[in-house]
Amino acid sequence: MKFIDEYRDPAAARQLAAAIARTVTRPWTLMEVCGGQTHAIVKFGIDELLPKEIRLVHGPGCPVCVTPLELIDKAIQIASRPGVIFCSFGDMLRVPGSDRDLLSVKASGGDVRIVYSPLDAVQIARENPGLEVVFFAVGFETTAPANAMAVFQAEREGLRNFSLLVSHVLVPPAIEAILSSPVNCVNGFLAAGHVCAIMGTAEYEPIAQKYHVPIIVTGFEPLDILQGVLMCIEQLEQGRAEVENQYVRAVRTKGNEPAQEILRQVFRVISRKWRGVGEIPQSGFGLAEKYSAFDAEQRFGVADYHAEESSECMSGLILQGVKRPHECPAFGTRCTPERPLGATMVSNEGACAAYYRYRRT
Ligand code: SF4
Repeated sequence: MKFIDEYRDPAAARQLAAAIARTVTRPWTLMEVCGGQTHAIVKFGIDELLPKEIRLVHGPGCPVCVTPLELIDKAIQIASRPGVIFCSFGDMLRVPGSDRDLLSVKASGGDVRIVYSPLDAVQIARENPGLEVVFFAVGFETTAPANAMAVFQAEREGLRNFSLLVSHVLVPPAIEAILSSPVNCVNGFLAAGHVCAIMGTAEYEPIAQKYHVPIIVTGFEPLDILQGVLMCIEQLEQGRAEVENQYVRAVRTKGNEPAQEILRQVFRVISRKWRGVGEIPQSGFGLAEKYSAFDAEQRFGVADYHAEESSECMSGLILQGVKRPHECPAFGTRCTPERPLGATMVSNEGACAAYYRYRRT
Protein backbone atom coordinates (compact mmCIF):
# COMPACT_ATOMS: atom_id res chain seq x y z
CA MET A 1 0.00 0.00 0.00
CA LYS A 2 1.42 3.35 -0.97
CA PHE A 3 2.67 5.49 1.94
CA ILE A 4 2.35 2.72 4.55
CA ASP A 5 4.53 -0.17 3.38
CA GLU A 6 7.34 2.19 2.39
CA TYR A 7 7.63 3.33 6.00
CA ARG A 8 7.60 -0.22 7.39
CA ASP A 9 10.27 -1.73 5.16
CA PRO A 10 12.30 -4.19 7.30
CA ALA A 11 15.55 -3.82 5.32
CA ALA A 12 15.46 -0.03 5.60
CA ALA A 13 14.65 -0.35 9.32
CA ARG A 14 17.69 -2.56 9.86
CA GLN A 15 19.88 -0.04 7.99
CA LEU A 16 18.66 2.79 10.21
CA ALA A 17 19.18 0.69 13.34
CA ALA A 18 22.74 -0.07 12.20
CA ALA A 19 23.39 3.64 11.62
CA ILE A 20 22.12 4.40 15.13
CA ALA A 21 24.40 1.68 16.57
CA ARG A 22 27.41 3.16 14.72
CA THR A 23 26.61 6.65 16.01
CA VAL A 24 25.89 6.08 19.71
CA THR A 25 28.81 6.00 22.15
CA ARG A 26 27.14 6.45 25.58
CA PRO A 27 23.75 6.17 27.31
CA TRP A 28 20.94 8.50 26.27
CA THR A 29 17.28 8.66 27.30
CA LEU A 30 14.84 9.81 24.63
CA MET A 31 11.15 10.53 25.08
CA GLU A 32 8.60 10.09 22.32
CA VAL A 33 5.87 12.58 23.14
CA CYS A 34 2.88 11.07 21.36
CA GLY A 35 0.90 7.99 22.36
CA GLY A 36 0.64 7.00 18.68
CA GLN A 37 4.43 6.85 18.55
CA THR A 38 4.49 4.82 21.78
CA HIS A 39 2.18 2.24 20.25
CA ALA A 40 4.26 2.02 17.07
CA ILE A 41 7.44 1.56 19.13
CA VAL A 42 5.99 -1.27 21.21
CA LYS A 43 3.98 -2.87 18.39
CA PHE A 44 6.91 -3.03 15.96
CA GLY A 45 9.56 -3.75 18.62
CA ILE A 46 11.54 -0.63 17.73
CA ASP A 47 12.90 -0.29 21.28
CA GLU A 48 14.24 -3.86 21.06
CA LEU A 49 16.00 -3.03 17.78
CA LEU A 50 17.96 -0.17 19.34
CA PRO A 51 21.38 -0.48 20.99
CA LYS A 52 21.30 -0.90 24.77
CA GLU A 53 22.68 2.61 25.29
CA ILE A 54 19.37 4.11 24.10
CA ARG A 55 16.44 4.07 26.49
CA LEU A 56 13.04 5.15 25.22
CA VAL A 57 10.56 6.56 27.74
CA HIS A 58 6.98 7.41 26.97
CA GLY A 59 5.62 10.92 27.18
CA PRO A 60 2.34 12.64 28.00
CA GLY A 61 0.99 12.77 24.45
CA CYS A 62 -2.08 10.59 24.85
CA PRO A 63 -5.02 13.01 25.14
CA VAL A 64 -7.34 10.50 26.80
CA CYS A 65 -4.67 9.65 29.39
CA VAL A 66 -4.00 13.22 30.51
CA THR A 67 -7.65 14.31 30.76
CA PRO A 68 -8.03 14.89 34.51
CA LEU A 69 -10.29 12.75 36.63
CA GLU A 70 -12.46 15.71 37.59
CA LEU A 71 -13.21 16.49 33.94
CA ILE A 72 -14.34 12.88 33.42
CA ASP A 73 -16.55 13.28 36.50
CA LYS A 74 -17.94 16.54 35.11
CA ALA A 75 -18.71 14.81 31.81
CA ILE A 76 -20.52 12.05 33.71
CA GLN A 77 -22.50 14.59 35.78
CA ILE A 78 -23.60 16.49 32.67
CA ALA A 79 -24.38 13.35 30.65
CA SER A 80 -26.55 12.00 33.49
CA ARG A 81 -28.93 14.95 33.36
CA PRO A 82 -32.29 14.65 31.65
CA GLY A 83 -32.64 16.73 28.50
CA VAL A 84 -28.94 16.39 27.61
CA ILE A 85 -27.40 14.65 24.59
CA PHE A 86 -23.73 14.12 25.44
CA CYS A 87 -21.49 13.60 22.40
CA SER A 88 -17.95 12.27 22.50
CA PHE A 89 -15.35 10.36 20.54
CA GLY A 90 -15.60 6.67 21.45
CA ASP A 91 -12.31 6.42 23.33
CA MET A 92 -13.57 8.62 26.18
CA LEU A 93 -16.50 6.38 27.09
CA ARG A 94 -14.48 3.79 29.03
CA VAL A 95 -12.16 6.18 30.86
CA PRO A 96 -12.83 5.65 34.56
CA GLY A 97 -14.17 8.57 36.57
CA SER A 98 -14.26 8.54 40.37
CA ASP A 99 -16.95 5.87 40.52
CA ARG A 100 -18.14 5.07 36.97
CA ASP A 101 -17.60 5.91 33.30
CA LEU A 102 -19.64 7.41 30.46
CA LEU A 103 -20.46 3.95 29.12
CA SER A 104 -22.26 3.11 32.37
CA VAL A 105 -24.21 6.38 32.10
CA LYS A 106 -25.29 5.27 28.63
CA ALA A 107 -26.15 1.78 29.93
CA SER A 108 -28.40 3.28 32.58
CA GLY A 109 -30.35 5.33 30.07
CA GLY A 110 -28.30 8.51 29.55
CA ASP A 111 -28.23 9.86 25.98
CA VAL A 112 -24.50 9.45 25.35
CA ARG A 113 -23.60 9.33 21.67
CA ILE A 114 -20.35 8.50 19.88
CA VAL A 115 -19.64 10.95 17.07
CA TYR A 116 -16.82 11.09 14.54
CA SER A 117 -16.56 14.87 14.30
CA PRO A 118 -17.56 17.82 16.49
CA LEU A 119 -19.60 19.03 13.51
CA ASP A 120 -21.76 15.89 13.94
CA ALA A 121 -22.62 17.24 17.40
CA VAL A 122 -23.53 20.61 15.85
CA GLN A 123 -25.85 18.75 13.47
CA ILE A 124 -27.47 16.92 16.41
CA ALA A 125 -28.01 20.31 18.11
CA ARG A 126 -29.68 21.61 14.93
CA GLU A 127 -32.01 18.61 14.84
CA ASN A 128 -32.89 18.76 18.56
CA PRO A 129 -33.61 22.39 19.44
CA GLY A 130 -35.42 21.38 22.64
CA LEU A 131 -32.42 19.52 24.08
CA GLU A 132 -28.97 20.56 25.27
CA VAL A 133 -26.18 19.05 23.14
CA VAL A 134 -22.70 18.92 24.67
CA PHE A 135 -19.50 17.86 22.89
CA PHE A 136 -16.54 16.58 24.93
CA ALA A 137 -13.64 18.50 23.37
CA VAL A 138 -10.57 16.50 24.37
CA GLY A 139 -7.13 16.52 22.83
CA PHE A 140 -4.00 18.40 21.88
CA GLU A 141 -3.45 21.10 19.29
CA THR A 142 -4.28 18.51 16.62
CA THR A 143 -7.99 18.20 17.38
CA ALA A 144 -8.54 21.75 18.64
CA PRO A 145 -9.13 23.43 15.23
CA ALA A 146 -12.14 21.20 14.40
CA ASN A 147 -13.61 21.87 17.83
CA ALA A 148 -13.02 25.60 17.41
CA MET A 149 -14.77 25.38 14.04
CA ALA A 150 -17.79 23.68 15.68
CA VAL A 151 -18.19 26.58 18.14
CA PHE A 152 -17.64 29.13 15.36
CA GLN A 153 -20.35 27.43 13.29
CA ALA A 154 -22.80 27.16 16.20
CA GLU A 155 -22.31 30.86 16.96
CA ARG A 156 -22.86 31.79 13.33
CA GLU A 157 -26.11 29.79 13.23
CA GLY A 158 -27.28 31.07 16.61
CA LEU A 159 -27.45 27.54 18.05
CA ARG A 160 -27.94 28.25 21.75
CA ASN A 161 -28.42 24.59 22.74
CA PHE A 162 -24.84 23.61 21.84
CA SER A 163 -21.85 23.74 24.19
CA LEU A 164 -18.34 22.31 24.64
CA LEU A 165 -16.84 20.61 27.66
CA VAL A 166 -13.26 21.68 26.94
CA SER A 167 -10.20 19.68 27.96
CA HIS A 168 -7.61 20.82 25.44
CA VAL A 169 -3.95 20.66 26.38
CA LEU A 170 -0.80 21.91 24.71
CA VAL A 171 2.44 20.01 24.12
CA PRO A 172 5.23 22.63 24.54
CA PRO A 173 4.33 23.54 28.17
CA ALA A 174 4.26 19.81 29.03
CA ILE A 175 7.75 19.36 27.56
CA GLU A 176 8.94 22.33 29.64
CA ALA A 177 7.35 20.88 32.78
CA ILE A 178 9.18 17.57 32.20
CA LEU A 179 12.50 19.31 31.57
CA SER A 180 12.25 21.54 34.63
CA SER A 181 11.30 18.65 36.95
CA PRO A 182 14.01 17.67 39.49
CA VAL A 183 13.50 14.03 38.44
CA ASN A 184 13.91 14.69 34.73
CA CYS A 185 15.91 12.01 32.94
CA VAL A 186 15.18 12.94 29.31
CA ASN A 187 18.08 13.97 27.04
CA GLY A 188 16.15 14.43 23.79
CA PHE A 189 12.60 14.45 22.42
CA LEU A 190 10.75 13.00 19.46
CA ALA A 191 8.02 15.63 19.16
CA ALA A 192 4.58 14.73 17.80
CA GLY A 193 4.42 15.30 14.05
CA HIS A 194 0.68 15.89 13.81
CA VAL A 195 0.74 18.60 16.50
CA CYS A 196 3.46 20.40 14.54
CA ALA A 197 1.47 19.99 11.30
CA ILE A 198 -0.99 22.41 12.94
CA MET A 199 1.26 24.61 15.08
CA GLY A 200 4.56 24.56 13.17
CA THR A 201 7.92 24.20 14.90
CA ALA A 202 8.72 27.71 16.19
CA GLU A 203 7.38 27.09 19.72
CA TYR A 204 10.05 24.43 20.28
CA GLU A 205 13.07 26.62 19.44
CA PRO A 206 13.25 28.46 22.81
CA ILE A 207 12.78 25.16 24.69
CA ALA A 208 15.63 23.46 22.81
CA GLN A 209 17.89 26.43 23.54
CA LYS A 210 16.91 26.99 27.17
CA TYR A 211 17.25 23.33 28.24
CA HIS A 212 19.88 22.36 25.65
CA VAL A 213 17.88 19.39 24.31
CA PRO A 214 17.44 18.24 20.73
CA ILE A 215 13.79 18.15 19.66
CA ILE A 216 13.07 16.15 16.52
CA VAL A 217 9.61 16.56 14.98
CA THR A 218 8.85 12.93 14.11
CA GLY A 219 6.19 10.91 12.31
CA PHE A 220 4.47 7.72 13.41
CA GLU A 221 5.64 4.86 11.20
CA PRO A 222 8.61 2.64 12.16
CA LEU A 223 11.04 4.28 9.73
CA ASP A 224 9.94 7.75 10.87
CA ILE A 225 10.69 6.85 14.46
CA LEU A 226 14.03 5.20 13.70
CA GLN A 227 15.09 8.18 11.62
CA GLY A 228 13.96 10.53 14.41
CA VAL A 229 16.06 8.55 16.90
CA LEU A 230 19.08 8.71 14.57
CA MET A 231 18.72 12.48 14.14
CA CYS A 232 18.39 12.93 17.90
CA ILE A 233 21.41 10.73 18.71
CA GLU A 234 23.53 12.52 16.11
CA GLN A 235 22.76 15.83 17.81
CA LEU A 236 23.42 14.49 21.30
CA GLU A 237 26.73 12.92 20.30
CA GLN A 238 27.80 16.16 18.61
CA GLY A 239 26.69 18.35 21.56
CA ARG A 240 24.00 20.09 19.49
CA ALA A 241 20.50 20.99 20.73
CA GLU A 242 18.33 22.03 17.79
CA VAL A 243 14.81 21.62 16.49
CA GLU A 244 14.85 19.41 13.39
CA ASN A 245 12.01 18.16 11.25
CA GLN A 246 12.01 14.46 10.35
CA TYR A 247 8.32 14.57 9.29
CA VAL A 248 8.86 16.82 6.29
CA ARG A 249 6.11 15.17 4.28
CA ALA A 250 3.50 16.64 6.66
CA VAL A 251 5.04 19.46 8.70
CA ARG A 252 5.93 22.94 7.51
CA THR A 253 7.87 25.34 9.74
CA LYS A 254 4.90 27.68 10.04
CA GLY A 255 2.31 24.90 10.38
CA ASN A 256 -1.28 25.36 9.27
CA GLU A 257 -1.88 29.10 9.56
CA PRO A 258 -5.66 29.12 8.88
CA ALA A 259 -6.07 26.49 11.64
CA GLN A 260 -3.99 28.63 14.00
CA GLU A 261 -6.19 31.63 13.18
CA ILE A 262 -9.43 29.84 14.15
CA LEU A 263 -7.73 28.69 17.38
CA ARG A 264 -6.78 32.30 18.20
CA GLN A 265 -10.36 33.44 17.61
CA VAL A 266 -12.22 30.79 19.60
CA PHE A 267 -9.81 29.79 22.39
CA ARG A 268 -7.49 31.45 24.88
CA VAL A 269 -4.49 29.88 26.61
CA ILE A 270 -5.14 28.96 30.26
CA SER A 271 -3.50 26.83 32.96
CA ARG A 272 -4.75 23.24 32.91
CA LYS A 273 -4.60 20.23 35.18
CA TRP A 274 -3.08 17.08 33.59
CA ARG A 275 -4.14 13.71 34.91
CA GLY A 276 -1.40 12.21 37.06
CA VAL A 277 0.81 15.27 36.63
CA GLY A 278 -1.08 18.19 38.18
CA GLU A 279 -1.54 21.74 37.01
CA ILE A 280 0.84 23.07 34.35
CA PRO A 281 0.77 26.85 33.82
CA GLN A 282 -0.51 28.08 30.46
CA SER A 283 -0.82 24.52 29.17
CA GLY A 284 -4.28 24.36 27.64
CA PHE A 285 -7.10 26.03 25.80
CA GLY A 286 -10.30 27.42 27.29
CA LEU A 287 -13.02 29.26 25.38
CA ALA A 288 -12.33 32.92 24.64
CA GLU A 289 -14.54 35.54 26.27
CA LYS A 290 -16.51 36.03 23.06
CA TYR A 291 -17.50 32.33 23.06
CA SER A 292 -17.92 31.82 26.82
CA ALA A 293 -21.67 31.19 26.36
CA PHE A 294 -20.67 27.85 24.79
CA ASP A 295 -18.80 26.69 27.91
CA ALA A 296 -20.58 23.59 29.26
CA GLU A 297 -18.85 23.87 32.65
CA GLN A 298 -20.51 27.25 33.21
CA ARG A 299 -23.81 26.28 31.62
CA PHE A 300 -24.23 23.22 33.85
CA GLY A 301 -22.66 24.70 37.00
CA VAL A 302 -19.85 22.13 37.36
CA ALA A 303 -16.86 24.46 37.06
CA ASP A 304 -15.99 24.33 40.77
CA TYR A 305 -16.10 20.53 41.13
CA HIS A 306 -12.78 18.89 42.14
CA ALA A 307 -11.75 15.23 42.52
CA GLU A 308 -8.68 13.42 43.86
CA GLU A 309 -6.99 10.73 41.80
CA SER A 310 -6.33 7.15 42.96
CA SER A 311 -3.07 6.92 44.88
CA GLU A 312 -2.42 3.41 43.50
CA CYS A 313 -2.04 4.48 39.86
CA MET A 314 1.42 5.81 38.98
CA SER A 315 0.48 7.00 35.49
CA GLY A 316 1.78 10.49 36.35
CA LEU A 317 5.31 9.07 36.67
CA ILE A 318 4.83 7.11 33.44
CA LEU A 319 3.62 10.19 31.57
CA GLN A 320 6.75 12.05 32.70
CA GLY A 321 9.06 9.22 31.62
CA VAL A 322 10.22 8.48 35.17
CA LYS A 323 8.70 4.97 35.27
CA ARG A 324 7.66 2.45 32.64
CA PRO A 325 4.31 0.63 32.75
CA HIS A 326 5.59 -2.80 33.82
CA GLU A 327 7.23 -1.16 36.84
CA CYS A 328 3.75 -0.44 38.28
CA PRO A 329 2.79 -3.12 40.86
CA ALA A 330 -0.81 -3.10 39.59
CA PHE A 331 0.17 -3.66 35.93
CA GLY A 332 -1.51 -6.72 34.45
CA THR A 333 -2.94 -7.81 37.80
CA ARG A 334 -5.24 -5.30 39.46
CA CYS A 335 -5.07 -3.10 36.34
CA THR A 336 -5.89 -4.50 32.89
CA PRO A 337 -7.66 -3.03 29.83
CA GLU A 338 -10.84 -4.83 30.96
CA ARG A 339 -10.59 -3.39 34.49
CA PRO A 340 -8.39 -0.29 34.24
CA LEU A 341 -7.31 1.65 37.31
CA GLY A 342 -5.87 4.52 35.32
CA ALA A 343 -6.35 6.23 31.99
CA THR A 344 -3.05 5.02 30.49
CA MET A 345 -4.52 1.49 30.57
CA VAL A 346 -7.81 2.55 28.93
CA SER A 347 -6.80 4.47 25.89
CA ASN A 348 -5.55 2.80 22.72
CA GLU A 349 -2.71 5.33 22.83
CA GLY A 350 -1.90 4.76 26.50
CA ALA A 351 1.55 3.38 27.35
CA CYS A 352 0.17 0.83 29.87
CA ALA A 353 -2.32 -0.49 27.30
CA ALA A 354 0.46 -0.79 24.70
CA TYR A 355 2.71 -2.74 27.07
CA TYR A 356 -0.19 -5.00 28.04
CA ARG A 357 -1.37 -5.59 24.48
CA TYR A 358 2.08 -6.38 23.12
CA ARG A 359 3.09 -8.40 26.19
CA ARG A 360 5.93 -6.26 27.53
CA THR A 361 5.96 -7.51 31.08
S1 SF4 B 1 -0.75 -0.15 35.11
FE1 SF4 B 1 -2.72 0.78 35.67
S2 SF4 B 1 -2.46 1.49 37.78
FE2 SF4 B 1 -0.41 1.15 36.92
S3 SF4 B 1 0.20 3.13 36.06
FE3 SF4 B 1 -0.75 1.99 34.39
S4 SF4 B 1 -2.89 2.66 34.44
FE4 SF4 B 1 -2.02 3.24 36.42
